[in-house]
Amino acid sequence: MDFYRILAKARSNPGELDAGDIAVLLDPPDAAAQQELFQAAYRKKVELCGKRVHLRGLIEFSNICTRNCLYCGIRRDNDRVSRYTMSMDEIIRSAAAAGEFGYGSAVLQSGERNDRQFVDLVEEILLKIRELPYDLGITLSCGEQSLETYIRWRKAGARRYLLRIESASEKIFRAIHPADASFTGRKDALQRLKDAGFQTGSGVMIGLPGQSIADLAQDILFFRETDLDMIGMGPYLPQDETPLGKMFPDQGNAAEKRLELALRMIAVTRLVLPDVNIAATTALQAISPADGRERGILAGANVIMPNVGDVSRRKDYQLYNGKPALDENNSLIREKLIASLAAIGEQPGFNEAGDPQHFFNRIKKNERI
Ligand code: SAH
Repeated sequence: MDFYRILAKARSNPGELDAGDIAVLLDPPDAAAQQELFQAAYRKKVELCGKRVHLRGLIEFSNICTRNCLYCGIRRDNDRVSRYTMSMDEIIRSAAAAGEFGYGSAVLQSGERNDRQFVDLVEEILLKIRELPYDLGITLSCGEQSLETYIRWRKAGARRYLLRIESASEKIFRAIHPADASFTGRKDALQRLKDAGFQTGSGVMIGLPGQSIADLAQDILFFRETDLDMIGMGPYLPQDETPLGKMFPDQGNAAEKRLELALRMIAVTRLVLPDVNIAATTALQAISPADGRERGILAGANVIMPNVGDVSRRKDYQLYNGKPALDENNSLIREKLIASLAAIGEQPGFNEAGDPQHFFNRIKKNERI
C-alpha cells in the first residue's frame, strides 16, 4: 500500500519526500497505520535527543497588541480583555523562576508592538536576565520587527525567535488576517531573523476553516524550504470573542479531530526534518489536559513550555478557549509535568540549553558554501 511504501521512504530518505508523499503520510488509512507513523517519528526523536524533553519557561509578559488577527483572543479590538504589561520586577522574577526550576531556558512572549518604548523594554529585559545567576537560553516571540530591532535584541542576549507563518497557504493566511497583514511581509521577517543570527522557529495552526491536507503538506514543505531550526505548531482553537471563532464555533468532536491532525503534523514534520526542535504546544494540552502534550512527545516533539509567569495573569492571556492550568501555581505545573513525562518513559532535560541541532548543521552547511 502507498502509505507504508512512503513511510519506509520517510525513514530512509526523508529528503526525497515531495508534497504528494507528505499528504499521504498526513492521512494514514487506519488507526494501525497512524500508530506506525507516530512510532517512526518518536524513534527519530529518540535518536535526536534521547528520552529527554527540553523545557522552556513561558513568560507571557504583555497582552497589548497592535494587530487584529481574526482568530486571536488578544487581538487589538477585543475590548473584553484587560490589558497588562508585567513590571520589570515581575518579568525578572519569572525568568529567575525558570532558572530555579532548572528549565535551562525561557520564552518571552507578547502581543506585537513596534514602538520605541516596547523595543527598549525588551532589550532592557534581556540585559537584566543576563545578570541572573542562571545561563538561560532565551527565546523571543514578539512578532514582526525591523532588522535593526532584531539585531538589538540578539545582541542583548536572545538567541531564539518564534514567528509563526500561521499558514503557508497565502489564501488561508489572507482569510484569517485583516487586510493590512502581509503574507510576504511575514516571510521577510523570518529571513530578517536568520540574518540577525537567531535560531529561527515558525509554525502553523492546524485545522483552520478551509484548510486541507494538501495545504498542511505545503506547510511542511515551507518549513523545509525556509530551513527552520524550530517548529511550534498546534491545533487551531476557536476563541469566542474573535470574528473567526464566532463564524465557525466548534461542533461535536471537532477539537479531538484537530488534536489528532496536529499529532500527525508533528509526526510527519519530525520525519521530514529529523534535526529540528518541535514543541508539544499548550494548545494540545488545551484540548486534552491530561495527556495532550505527552501525546505530542510520543509523536516526535521534543520541547515543552511550562508557564512560569504569575498565575494571576493567565486569565488575561487567553489566545483561545480552554487555556489549561489557569489557576495552577508553577511548582504544581512542574511536579505534574515531571510525573506525566515519567509515565511515558521520558524525563525533563534539566539545566540544559536544548539548542536545536539543525541550527548548528545549518551554520556549518552555509560556511561550506
Ligand atoms: N504576537 C506574537 C506572539 C503571540 S501569539 C506573534 O505574532 O508572533 C502566539 C501564537 O498563538 C500565534 O502565532 C498563533 O499561532 C497562536 N494562536 C493565536 N490564536 C490562536 C487560536 N485561536 N488557536 C490556536 N492558536 C492560536
